[in-house]
Amino acid sequence: MKGYFHSFESLATLDGEGIRYGVFMQGCPLRCVYCHNPDTWEKGGTEFSPEELVKKISRYKPYFGKDGGITFSGGEPLLQAEFIGETVPYLKDAEINYAIDTSGEVHLSDDVKYVLQNAQLVILDLKFWDDESYKKYTGMGISKVIDTLEFLVKIKKRTWVRTVVVPGINDSEDIIRNYIEVLKNKRCVEKYELLGFHTMGFLKYENMEIKNPMKDTKPLKKEHLKELQEFVDNELKKP
Ligand code: SF4
Repeated sequence: MKGYFHSFESLATLDGEGIRYGVFMQGCPLRCVYCHNPDTWEKGGTEFSPEELVKKISRYKPYFGKDGGITFSGGEPLLQAEFIGETVPYLKDAEINYAIDTSGEVHLSDDVKYVLQNAQLVILDLKFWDDESYKKYTGMGISKVIDTLEFLVKIKKRTWVRTVVVPGINDSEDIIRNYIEVLKNKRCVEKYELLGFHTMGFLKYENMEIKNPMKDTKPLKKEHLKELQEFVDNELKKP
């Protein structure tokens, strides 16, 4: 079968451990108000077979070292779990690790479970803290995300959780406390990282001639992000 790709980023360091090769897949079930990649929403993009993809990536293997590898991101990579599942044996043969960067907003099919089970690391975006806010700001509810998180706990999968902090929506300690409640006692979670809202994707909304719900929102100030991250780190240390 073929996978559908938006773009690739060689030698990235942000999405997972070590030196990564970012594989951005096409298609997403969510419509997050703060999305900076609206061009990944719809199906389409460049096609590759599992073999072609791994051949393309293998050129970068010497840079990955012990911890690096590839990160499937998007869009929502687990929408194409069947394709990733077919790619896993090729990655194993090439001795290349993979991480999955997901919203968790997927049905836990056998393909999804297989892909999560075989990942080196899962990066789960916890976008909001309850069903109401999920629906309001992403268009979908929280239940599948919680199911995915519970599955990661069950299989003891190394998980990093991330939340985008958006001015005027979730940029207060009181609100961030709600996310910490969701993550409490989730032993698979090694790290909880806050990311600041930025405006780098605004031009895409203009070019695509779609409404940008955040057009009047300024980027989150770095100092404020630092304060909130310190709050999170302190709260998570508490017994
Ligand atoms: S899940 Fe990611 S790609 Fe999809 S709408 Fe949200 S921010 Fe955009």
